[in-house]
Amino acid sequence: MFRGHICLAFFCFCEVFSRVLPGVLDKGSTVCLVGMAQPQRVGDLPEDVDTDDCMTSYTHIYSPDLLKDQVAFITGGGSGIGLRIAEILMRHGCDTVIASRNQDKLREAANKLTAATGRRCLPLCIDVRQPETIGAAVDDTLKELGRIDILINNAAGNFLCPATSLSFNAFKTVMEIDTMGTFNTSKVVYEKWLKDHGGSIVNISATLGYRGQGLQVHAGSAKAANDAMTKHLAVEWGPSGVRVNTLAPGPISGTEGFRRLGGPRGETSGAFQSIPLQRAGNKTEMAHSVLFLASRASSYVTGAILVADGGSWLTSANDVSMLLGHWSSEMKRNK
Ligand code: NAP
Repeated sequence: MFRGHICLAFFCFCEVFSRVLPGVLDKGSTVCLVGMAQPQRVGDLPEDVDTDDCMTSYTHIYSPDLLKDQVAFITGGGSGIGLRIAEILMRHGCDTVIASRNQDKLREAANKLTAATGRRCLPLCIDVRQPETIGAAVDDTLKELGRIDILINNAAGNFLCPATSLSFNAFKTVMEIDTMGTFNTSKVVYEKWLKDHGGSIVNISATLGYRGQGLQVHAGSAKAANDAMTKHLAVEWGPSGVRVNTLAPGPISGTEGFRRLGGPRGETSGAFQSIPLQRAGNKTEMAHSVLFLASRASSYVTGAILVADGGSWLTSANDVSMLLGHWSSEMKRNK
């Protein structure tokens, strides 16, 4: 159910923001586009690959030993933005745990991450809705890796749906994964390790709630709750040496939604021209923002929400009748 809806969400996104990336390519930047699985660097943008693979080359911005011998626990680290966050943290000297529901996917991702970075990566099965699974994974982490310095709350579920068609259960499920999951994981990791050792928590949010993005009441509400949670926990846990911050991405290429919803097609048709920076972001850019918030580069920052969206939420369309039109025609097509 989620997949179909994710597809629709991005389709609408591309239709809503039509006219794109040529704006970036036209600027005479150094461009090296070498196929889907190859790293690509465009001007000042960092390398990225569109697939759930590691980059074959990477140019450090920060010191490569910024996170030397630290350990990061990353929910949803087996795919998309979470996988790239794991890679970038590992490329800065960190070992990681990637934790979500699908063990096969996690194992494959962990092998790739270790091969690319030379650091340890533990794939652990959890469901963020079930605190006991998180507790067991944190115990395994401490046994295997000895510490947890960084927690990234990245796991989430989303789809596009008008409120009137959204089932009670669908709303509840998104709240349970995005909001309860963030609370559950933060509380378990805090109580089992961070409260006595300090550390850094970074929540991955979204900008959907800022202007009440149409057809996104579930995810927008869940992420808005998380943004409040970031501040509450920053206040309560600061005295234990725990910083709590949030990154709010805009539309990010190389994610499942982007692929399924015609992102590459959107790029060539100018789908992002209404965004101030005239393009989608990439996963490495999100990971660099996380690296800043998770590391001592931001040692006096807590309770902050860093929006990394190219200015998108300021100017993006929010025309509910157009969104509803796309939604209902897509529903008919799916039937
Ligand atoms: P993604 O690849 O679908 O990542 C979501 C991850 O969450 C998956 O690895 C999934 O793994 C895990 N997950 C889902 N339900 C879970 C559960 N109950 N327990 C544990 N893990 C669970 O999506 P993404 O696009 O990279 O998104 C990553 C984050 O960025 C999300 O918080 C999302 O809201 C945010 N974001 C993304 C964009 C974008 O353009 N892509 C924009 C704004 C914000 P399993 O299936 O193995 O459980």
